Formats: sequence, structure tokens, C-alpha cells
Amino acid sequence: MGTWSWVYEGFDPKTERLREALCTLGNSYFCTRGAGEESADDDIHYPGTYLAGGYNRVKTHIAGETVENEDLVNMPNWLPLNFRIAGGKWFDLRDVDILEYRQVLEMDKGILRRTFRFRDDRGRATWVESRRLVHMRLPHYAALEMRLVPENWTGEIAFRSALDGRVINNNVARYRELERRHLEPIETREVDEETIHLRMRTNQSCLQVAQTARTRVYRNRERLRLERHLRSEPVWIAQEFQLDAVEKSEIRIGKIVSMFTSRDVATSECGLESRKWAGRAGSFKELSQSNEIAWESLWRRFDLEFEHEDREQSDRISGIIHLYLFHLLQTVSINSMALDLDVGVPSRGWHGEAYRGHILWDEIFVFPLINLRLPEITREILLYRFRRLDEARANARRSGFQGAMFPWQSGSDGREESQRIHLNPRSGRWIPDNSNLQRHVNAAIAYNVHQYYQVTKDTEFMIFYGAEMILEIARFWASIATYNPDHDRYEILGVMGPDEFHEAYPGAEKPGLDNNAYTNVMAVWVLNTALEMLRILSEDALVEVKRKIGLEDAEIALWDDIRHKMRLVFHDDGIISQFEGYGNLKEFDWEAYRKKYGDIHRLDRILESENDTPNRYKLSKQADVLMLFYLFSSEELAEIFEQLGYPFDYETIPRNIQYYIDRASHGSTLSWVVHSWVITRSNRARSWELFRMALRSDVADIQGGTTPEGIHLGAMAGTIDLLQRGYTGIVTRGEVLWLNPCLPEGLRHLKMRIRYQGHSLTLRITPDRLTVTARRSAEKPIRIGFRDKVFELEEGSSREFDLQAEAPHRQCPD
Ligand code: BGC
Repeated sequence: MGTWSWVYEGFDPKTERLREALCTLGNSYFCTRGAGEESADDDIHYPGTYLAGGYNRVKTHIAGETVENEDLVNMPNWLPLNFRIAGGKWFDLRDVDILEYRQVLEMDKGILRRTFRFRDDRGRATWVESRRLVHMRLPHYAALEMRLVPENWTGEIAFRSALDGRVINNNVARYRELERRHLEPIETREVDEETIHLRMRTNQSCLQVAQTARTRVYRNRERLRLERHLRSEPVWIAQEFQLDAVEKSEIRIGKIVSMFTSRDVATSECGLESRKWAGRAGSFKELSQSNEIAWESLWRRFDLEFEHEDREQSDRISGIIHLYLFHLLQTVSINSMALDLDVGVPSRGWHGEAYRGHILWDEIFVFPLINLRLPEITREILLYRFRRLDEARANARRSGFQGAMFPWQSGSDGREESQRIHLNPRSGRWIPDNSNLQRHVNAAIAYNVHQYYQVTKDTEFMIFYGAEMILEIARFWASIATYNPDHDRYEILGVMGPDEFHEAYPGAEKPGLDNNAYTNVMAVWVLNTALEMLRILSEDALVEVKRKIGLEDAEIALWDDIRHKMRLVFHDDGIISQFEGYGNLKEFDWEAYRKKYGDIHRLDRILESENDTPNRYKLSKQADVLMLFYLFSSEELAEIFEQLGYPFDYETIPRNIQYYIDRASHGSTLSWVVHSWVITRSNRARSWELFRMALRSDVADIQGGTTPEGIHLGAMAGTIDLLQRGYTGIVTRGEVLWLNPCLPEGLRHLKMRIRYQGHSLTLRITPDRLTVTARRSAEKPIRIGFRDKVFELEEGSSREFDLQAEAPHRQCPD
């Protein structure tokens, strides 16, 4: 199938929704799932179209409460294009004999192609091919083309091309008891003989969305002018037309759609814009050519060449990498910036309705991959947060803290969007959702700001936005930390770490845990970084930002105290306790549960359905303590521990890693990425296995049914980042681009292009050699660190490093 095509052979109703998610087309302005043009929401299909950041809030009375959720709205479906032969039923795959069926996502071109042959109950055989695109450079356009050839019949055929606003949010079964209607009608109208128009608005956020569809018909190459019948309802509009189909002669239908919203920049009124641009649109062929050019330039920046000694493995992995990059670029891309969209990184893409399109901490897994390729995009991701800084300040105040406390789940305006109750589908019970106690999201945001600065040296960004975010987040950490005189240390109480399975102490009435190691170390890191920021800013900028946020010297002194005295708890002689008291929890009987349930990823649901709770056990959903080894090198961690006055014995690292790997259920796809990462050097074979597991997350839907509700963007990007930074040892720190490759066994060659401080660098890595080439530019030389030496690299020059010569066993031990 090649590594640029993602192919499905045959039609499989059971996995259709997974295909739809993985064959989604988008351009980071909107995304449309890969459902067939003839399909509607039913037990097999779920066509869905989502605008980046297209949210709406609705209330539901459920389980004795009124809850309000903000959802990513399923927008009107622009796809419908169907046919019926000789006055029969409208085509449905379920009514015919499918003779051949093939669906191909052509990732290099940004095209979804579906080709099939079928025979109906009268023995008529027909060949159909549809191709579609969502344009990457002209983001308001989507287009599809259907070609149909009667193989053994001649007769009448009718087509119907529609815009369908009857849709509701119905993708996630667990949400079905919640209100699902978000759209209300504004108008439908026929614009001209080949063009229809639909305009609707969301019922709370008043976001108007307008779609205009122009449909043209051709026989062989000749354009046909046919009489069309308009059918319209307040939220649905269609044109129907019929013609005589001739055996072995092709009928081609081109449907071009333009979509605008009331929030688009450089527009007057969205209905007007959408009609205007539909009128100006080129043909499907022209649009597909310009779309391909846009994809070519994205691939030039993002591709990653990769060769494994096992050819089959190599191709399979390259194919999945292309698929994951494809979805990443459809979710966040240059359009997010060019259209000033003001959107963040949704954990499940704009591909489905899970997590309601919200922005969580997952951006910490997505950020590095993009940051080293197209930092213009990561800047935009940070600005999404900056624009919600005031809301984060209000959020902190409301909870009795200072500074800025960003929400665990963020949507339109940056208020906390985490649901208050959620359904356990296993027990059928609605239970309190405490996940918003994951304050660590704040550290992730500060961490990303810092990463952005390390890679770009964009001082202006720091002066106007970045420093303020870091300082306000530091302020929050200083205010949530409480001093405990018994230990002469600061503590952070009543929070949750990344391991969402633990949300309270066994039997406790209030949720929250004390001294989560990940949270406490990250808080210290933020305070360190805030103080470093104060040193980096120019005098004027410093005065300005301090005045703006009213930062006092006494506060800075307090930060300094906290960053030296934060409390960490240990057990079992050197194991960093995930939180205080973790060491006293019961060991979990993994074997028994595996035997009883088979799939035990979601132990939270299993245990709750048994009236038990994960809170009682030493188990985890995903990496928590181990996140520290993911984000920091052991040297960086050693510095932090030393600063805190805790022993950091290098020998205990493998023990800590093993301890927590043994207790992980991998209930989140992020878990595989982190676990693979933390052993890239100590156990290359196992790391590679976990990498391959992480790679399967979405293509094999390993969480059993979650991918049809949206891709897992953190796992997709994080897995590729294992190749980009994990195995290459890239670290951007202190004005130096550090490299220390350690390729997994069997990996022969890795090549990629990254950007660093204005330079475009090509990295070529084989087991023996690393070559770094800086392309021609007008930039100043940069500093490259290889193992413990630093070199200068000028534009237009290369440097080679011998990976075997310099103590290979120390760097790549196994
Ligand atoms: C994970 C979170 C993650 C969320 C969205 C959850 O299952 O536990 O860490 O942010 O999914 O991807």
C-alpha cells in the first residue's frame, strides 16, 4: 500500500466508525469525518463536521442535578450526495451486493478516495468512485467528486445533493442522556440553478455557520444543464435532478462547498461570504491540484524518513507515522494562525465528540513535535492560553488562590469546562468527576512557554506574553503551597496528579491528594523558571511586567523559599511516592483481574462497578511520577532534588521506573508514550516494543472503541516525538541544541528536518553516525552540543559525529 496511502479493503460495518475517524479530512479550520456521501447518523455511520473551536453550551437535568456542558458542535453535514436508479430506493450499501470496496486516504495529496462496485436486486452492476478534499490552503473550501459508470445497464438515474443541518451531537454513547441539540435554523435558499445555501446558528454561543454548495454534472467531459428540483426544510436543503445513464458511459458530479462563520476574520457576513466564494470556486480538479501543493510544502517540513532492517515493519511504521502527522496537521496548522482562529490543541482532534473538543494538558505531548518544525504554530497555541489569562486569574481567585489557575479542560472562554459528573457505562451510574483537581496543567503551560523560548529565542513574545504567563503561574503555585512547620517544608494539598485513577484517600469525604510528587516538582521547576525569567528580561521589560501584574519583591523572596523547601515523600527506600500515603496502599491483584476481565485498561470503571475504588490500590492509569523522567533529564532532576535537599541517587532511577511500570494499567494512550520514553536508553528493546504499542493506539483502537469518538492527538504526536527527540536525545537547553542519539536496535536510518533559532537543520542518523546540516540562511551561528561538548554551527555548513567512537556503551548501555 506504500507509506503514503492508508488503505481499507472491503466494507466492514463493525469498524466503519473507526475508519471514519481515521479518514477524517481537515485543514485546522474545520474537519469532516470520512463517512460515505450517502450515509447518515445510524448504528453504522457517523458523519460529523466540526469547526475548530466551534463550541456551544447546553444544560441538562440529570441525576438530580442541572449540569451545563460546553460541546464541540457537530455542524451541518455538507457531504450528502446520493443517487437512485430507475425510481428505486436511494442508494444504501446495506441493500446491495457489494462486489468490490476500497477506501484509500491519500495522505501526500490530502484526498480521500472510495471506490466500489455493487449489484442491485435487479442484477444491475455499477462502478462508483468518490474523491474528496478539505482544502489546506483555501480553508473555506471542501469539495467532492463522484464518478459513476453503469456496467451492464442503461436507464434513468436520479441524484440528490444536499446540505443537512438536522444533525445533533450523537457521537459518544456515554453522553446520550445529555442534551444534544445545539443548532437552530436561520435560512435555506437556492442561490442559482446549481447552488444551494444553508445558514444556522448555535443556540447559546450564537455562532453562525453558512454553507453553500455548487453541484455540477458531466457526462464524459460534457457539462449537462439539467432541470433541478429544489427540496427544502428549515434545516435541510437539496437539489434533485435526473438523467439517462448509458451503459459503460461515465457520469461525473462535482460538489464544491464553501463554509464561513460569523467569527471569521476579513469577512462581512458569513452567508454572503460563503455564497460569494462558492461562486468563485474552481473545479474539483483545480482545487485538488492546489490542495496537493499545500500538502507538499507541509510534508517537506514535517516528514520523517525512517528505515528499519525489517522492511515490512519499516513500511508499516512509516505509514502510521504519515497517518498521525496527517491528522496532527489537520488539527493544528498554519491556518490556525493565518485565520487567527484562537484555538488550542484539542486532545481528541476535531475528529469526534469525546472530551467535547476540549483543550487539556495533552498539548505538552504535542508541542515539541510542532515546536521543532513550525514554531509559528506553537506560538499560536500559547496565545490561545494567553488570551484566557484573565479568566485563569479569575479562576484562581474563585478558588482562593492568587496568580493564574488555568482550567483542566478549556474551551471557548477559558473557564473550567470539566464535567461535574460522568457516566460509568459499566455500572450505569453517574459519578462525581474530580479530574479538575489536576492543577498540574498549569505547569504544562509554563513548560511549553519555556520550550518555545528555548527553540525560537523569540524575546518579543516573552516580553509581551510569555513572561507574564510564567510569572502568574508561578504566583499560583506559591499561593497553593502551604507551609508545614512540622517538616519545615511547603506542601501542595488536595490535588490530583496525571494518574486520574487516584482522586481521594480511601474513605475520605473530600477529593484530592497531598504532595503529588509530579505536581510538587513541577511547581518547583516553574518557580525556578520564573526567577530565571526575571533575570533574562531586559530592565525595561522587567519593570513593565512587574508593574503590570503588581509583582512585589516579598513575593519573589517567598518563591525562592518555596523552591528550596518543597516537600516530596518517599517510601520503600528511595521510591518517590506518587503522593503522600501511596506507600500505604494495598497491592493490586493484577493476575486475578486480568483473568476475570481480560481487558483491564479501565480499572476505574471496573472497580467502581464492583463498588470498589482504585483509590485503595497501588495502581495507576498512566505515568505520574514517571512524567518527571519524561520531561527532564536525570541531570536536571538531580539539580532539582539537590536544590530541595533530597538525595538523588542515580541507582534508584531504574528502580523507580520499574516500580511504576509494574503498577500501570495504561488506561490512557499517553501512558505508552511516556513509558517507552523513560526506558529509551536503559532498555532499548522494551522501549521499542512500547513505542510500537503506542503506535497502535489509534490505528488498532487499543482502548476498545475510543478512537471512533476522536483521535488521541497526544499519543499520535508523542509517539512520533519518540523518534524525533526520544531516540535522538534532542534537548534544547541553555542556548544549546543538545543531541545524543541512541537508536533502537534494528533502526538503520532516521532523517528529519527541524528548525532551531531560525535555522533549518537536517539531521541524519545511522547507528554509527550523526550528521547535522544547516541550510543556507541569514541567521547567526548556533551552538550544537554532542554528549558533553559544544560546537558552533554556521549556516550552510555540516558537522558529523561518530556515534561509536565516543563511549557508546555509556550512552546506549544495553
Ligand atoms: C488522560 C488525561 C488526558 C485525557 C485526554 C485521559 O484519559 O488520563 O491525561 O488529558 O485523557 O486525552
